[in-house]
Amino acid sequence: MNIHEYQGKEVLKKYGVAVPNGKVAYTVEEAVEAAASLGTPVVVVKAQIHAGGRGKAGGVKVAKSSEEVRAYAEEILGKTLITHQTGPEGKVVKRLLIEEGCQIVKEYYIGLVVDRGSGRVVMMASEEGGTEIEEVAATHPEKIFKEIIDPAVGLQTFQARKLAYSIAIPTELVNKAVKFMQALYLAFVDKDCSIAEINPLVVTGDGNVMALDAKLNFDSNALFRHKDILELRDLDEEDAKEIEASKFDLSYIALDGNIGCMVNGAGLAMATMDIIKYYGGEPANFLDVGGGATTEKVTEAFKIILSDDKVNGIFVNIFGGIMRCDVIASGVVEAARQLGLTKPLVVRLEGTNVALGKEILAGSGLNIVAADSMADGARKIVALV
Ligand code: ADP
Ligand code: MG
Repeated sequence: MNIHEYQGKEVLKKYGVAVPNGKVAYTVEEAVEAAASLGTPVVVVKAQIHAGGRGKAGGVKVAKSSEEVRAYAEEILGKTLITHQTGPEGKVVKRLLIEEGCQIVKEYYIGLVVDRGSGRVVMMASEEGGTEIEEVAATHPEKIFKEIIDPAVGLQTFQARKLAYSIAIPTELVNKAVKFMQALYLAFVDKDCSIAEINPLVVTGDGNVMALDAKLNFDSNALFRHKDILELRDLDEEDAKEIEASKFDLSYIALDGNIGCMVNGAGLAMATMDIIKYYGGEPANFLDVGGGATTEKVTEAFKIILSDDKVNGIFVNIFGGIMRCDVIASGVVEAARQLGLTKPLVVRLEGTNVALGKEILAGSGLNIVAADSMADGARKIVALV
């Protein structure tokens, strides 16, 4: 789960990570008031969306007077920002962060990720802050320094110092940078983050080391023990279909293709997407209905798939282990009836009660194309769409 920059900064502040003072604003009036209460000659008006690259897209503006704050707030609130992370449809700005303007001497990059290769949390640092780190990684990988962190002892001072020196933090500020990194690591572990990205980390004119931007991403599987973080969820920023799916405990991820997939088991769902691609098609979603799906759940899954305008056909690929094929078949028939399905539907069933499942499908009078295997089903749905 992602949260907004201003929320991320509030979380980090509690762990001792230095951030500028700032306030969230939902309206132009609130923005002007927030700027006045900060009492600094320069404030920055920042669009709050769950995506980076806002600066380049015109979502971060420096204001030197209350009139400028008003003008920028009017301009940015309600605007659709298109950045390299939003996709072409962009995201509508509904909140602003009004923040103290910092006098930046230099911008750096600090990030923490769970690295699957080493099975550890890794801290990354670079002197190339403020820019897209993906680009630095592609063109100048030698400019990104890494420290693998042992979970038993945490980020060691020597590791943080090594990173600080590698990215040429001014010598007199190295201790502050070390404190910053250790506080960031503490927040990361304590809140079960999967990503913490500070881009840029800055050294300021008055000799401070602070986070000017903050991106925190949390492991959804650990959210049950972080009620405070869960409260920060902003449903406006999430895919409506994914929210609906989560209500029914379905694992659903929207994708860009036109073949809707309904599958049980994450591994089979991945394999189904692969085989669709292998036969030249594009999946419209990842959907795992889970092991113990009911007819109701299957019907909801169908509704969610069909609410996507891009879907031109559906491939149901079920292996009935715990899940029984007749339950799936009933769900498919029920949903197709309720929704008046007109799009091609290919079904491949295998496993427990498969004969009964096939009987239900055949007897439904619906136009369902039966498939004998995964490959057969994938080939058929690709041809039909
Ligand atoms: P994004 O990464 O989405 O573009 P950032 O929060 O990193 O947004 O802001 C973009 C740039 O704007 C920063 O690299 C920094 O140069 C400038 N900036 C952001 N916040 C402030 C601030 N409080 N004071 C001064 N400059 C800022
Ligand atoms: Mg940034």
